[in-house]
Amino acid sequence: MSEFIDFDQSVYPFPVKPALLSSDKKAFYRERIKSLLIEKNAVIVAHYYTDSEIQALAEETGGCVADSLEMARFGARHPASTLLVAGVRFMGETAKILSPEKNVLMPTLDAQCSLDIGCPEEEFSRFCDEHPDRTVVVYANTSAAVKARADWVVTSSIAVELIEHLDSLGEKIIWAPDRHLGRYVQKQTGADILCWQGACIVHDEFKTQSLEKMKALYPEAAVLVHPESPQAIVDLADAVGSTSQLIKAAQTLPNPSMIVATDKGIFYKMQQACPEKSLYIAPTAGEGATCRTCAHCPWMAMNGLQAIAEALEGNAEHHQIHVSEQLRKKALLPLNKMLDFAESLK
Ligand code: SF4
Repeated sequence: MSEFIDFDQSVYPFPVKPALLSSDKKAFYRERIKSLLIEKNAVIVAHYYTDSEIQALAEETGGCVADSLEMARFGARHPASTLLVAGVRFMGETAKILSPEKNVLMPTLDAQCSLDIGCPEEEFSRFCDEHPDRTVVVYANTSAAVKARADWVVTSSIAVELIEHLDSLGEKIIWAPDRHLGRYVQKQTGADILCWQGACIVHDEFKTQSLEKMKALYPEAAVLVHPESPQAIVDLADAVGSTSQLIKAAQTLPNPSMIVATDKGIFYKMQQACPEKSLYIAPTAGEGATCRTCAHCPWMAMNGLQAIAEALEGNAEHHQIHVSEQLRKKALLPLNKMLDFAESLK
């Protein structure tokens, strides 16, 4: 038995895009960031969805480009005293929870996530209180306060395995916040899941009919889908998985081309993994609809070169992540459970 709870979705105001930089300015900021990283004993921890120039800079300077699970692991074990997290707010908070002794800086503290915004702590906590018999599993894309209310944190790379495990123990589950991932996991495991109705504004926009047409146009292409996408998109997939799993699938599937239903920032690492293959963005508009995000997260796009340089330059107030010690200790428990569980799967 599974149930899906209706939650009134907010309309998310999109942030202003960072100003485009000339190539001279870009070169200037790249060099400035490289010297600041050394000066401040800092390292860049970047998500796959940031712009390719940010991912390239992270790689070039010894940082990491990864999914949120690997970002958390990398930041915790790296010896740098400052982590520059290029991603969205919850990723910075997770880094701080795991590494309280480190400075955690972000290019902007306004880089949000529609899943995080759509799962406010007070409502969510009330919802959990109404179902005390259920184990609370929250996706990494949540605030520190929502994590602190949970029994488990999970990322998409281990979601099916974790829910299978909890289901085998006979546990009934509250899943939050992504409704599509919740439904996907429920279908894969048959677990008893009560699901919060959040959605990712990027993945929610992929369009079924347009994707069918694209498949007909590129019959040799495999369709790769992130499970934050609607069920009808997942149904058209040759491979479904987290960002790292999709990169692996692009590499291992025999098809010469891929239609990819996730944020197009992933193309930088995916193309590195299989340079000989053609990659196409899955359609986000069509049949009278227009896209708002066009397969690129507007908050991830806020992580520009200028903002990274400013974060490292020192006005900590506008860039530093703070999590109170009381909240940190609570949120650390379900996060550590996730990391231990991920380790046990290796
Ligand atoms: S791509 Fe979606 S899930 Fe990822 S940060 Fe942006 S809004 Fe959140």
